[in-house]
Parts: sequence; C-alpha cells; structure tokens
Amino acid sequence: MKQKLEDLNKKFREARPEEVLGFVLKEHPGKAAFSTSLGSEDQVLTDMIAKIDKGIKIFTLDTGRQFYETYDTLDKTNGKYDINIEILFPDAQEVEIMVKEKGINLFYDSIENRRFCCNLRKLKPLKRALKGYEVWITGIRREQSVTRKNVELFEWDEELQIVKISPIINWSEKEVWNYIRAHKVPYNILHDKGYPSIGCAPCTRAVEKGENSRNGRWWWENSDTKECGIHLHVKTS
Ligand code: SF4
Repeated sequence: MKQKLEDLNKKFREARPEEVLGFVLKEHPGKAAFSTSLGSEDQVLTDMIAKIDKGIKIFTLDTGRQFYETYDTLDKTNGKYDINIEILFPDAQEVEIMVKEKGINLFYDSIENRRFCCNLRKLKPLKRALKGYEVWITGIRREQSVTRKNVELFEWDEELQIVKISPIINWSEKEVWNYIRAHKVPYNILHDKGYPSIGCAPCTRAVEKGENSRNGRWWWENSDTKECGIHLHVKTS
C-alpha cells in the first residue's frame, strides 16, 4: 500500500483536483465517499464532484450543535446541484448520557471533555459513514494549520483503514475563493462575517483579518494541534 500511494502521489503531483477526482471515482466505483463540512473548501469539491458523478456518496456530520447558516448552506447546495447530501447524527443515547454526566457545554471545561464530545458527535458517525468504503475524499489544505502542513494527496488512514484523498491540499485560500466566485458555488455566509473555518457553533468564533484560520476553532485551548480528531491519525505507510 505504501508504495502504491507514493506512486500515486508522484503521478498526480501536478494534476488538477478535477483530474484526481476523475481518476479516483473511476477506479473506485461505488466505493468512494466525500465528507463535507459545508465550509468553503468542501463546497469547491462538491461543485467538482457534482460535475463528474452525482451518484457518489456525499455526507455531512450533524453534531446537533451546528450554526443555522450551515443548515442553510446544506439546503442551498442540495438545490443547486440536485443532490441529497446524506446527514449522519451521533448516537442519541450516548449524547444524552454525556450531557447528563458532564453538562451541555462540557467542551469548555477541559481538552479531554472537548475531545470526548468530538469523538462522540463526529468521529463515531464518521466511522459509521465510511464503513465498507475504500476511499475517503476530504477538502483539507496544507496551508490551514501546522497539523496539516505534511498532508499528502493520497494517504493511508490507519484508524479508519481507508485511503484518504485531499485533492486541493496545495491550494491557497485565494484559489478556493477564486473558484467559488468563478463557478458561482453556494457558500456559508458566515465566511463573509470573519469565520474562515466553521465547525460547531459553541466551538467556533470569527477571527481578525490575517489571523490563522484555525484560531477561531476551540479558541480557549492553548494548543497548536487543534483538531477534532478526524484528521489526526493519518500514516503514509
Ligand atoms: S466541535 Fe465542540 S460541540 Fe462540536 S463535537 Fe467538538 S466539542 Fe462537541
């Protein structure tokens, strides 16, 4: 697997994201899934994928703590592309127990609590969504944070046991927005209000112009590795 992924990374080093997506969808019919947070990067990929193959599984994780604007983006996106983005929810009973034992806003109390909440509301539904699939398509970019600067186009995700593909890893924020404008891609209006990265409402805030986009996520934590866990367990071997 390691050699195969290295070869693919070499082969597609200079390729356009559409070429990468075209290759992946052809090589893994019915076995590739795209997870969207409905943020700007993922909206670019939804536009590209919908123009190649509307049949691919596109899903989002509804943690129960999203912004209203995110649901609005979901609706607009389904309408524009005539698709039906699948919505995955966390296990209701597990959420009830967590909230009863740790409080509704447990994530502010400790990093452990925050990770517990992310695991239950995001990671577990993600695992469920990807079960039986060979390829997981994501919209992450190297420029987004220190935890993402070594991301490869094709990687092996050890925990999820799946090939992870990030077609726009080399794109800048400017390229993302140029694409959105050129192709009239619907986007979350919170991006116009200082939210470059949009997650759950209680864990996301606006940032100042020029500030790192990830600073608006879990801002009360003093950590360089602010991830929900979804993109933290990738190995290239
Ligand atoms: S981002 Fe916040 S509310 Fe959302 S799953 Fe993680 S800790 Fe819970």
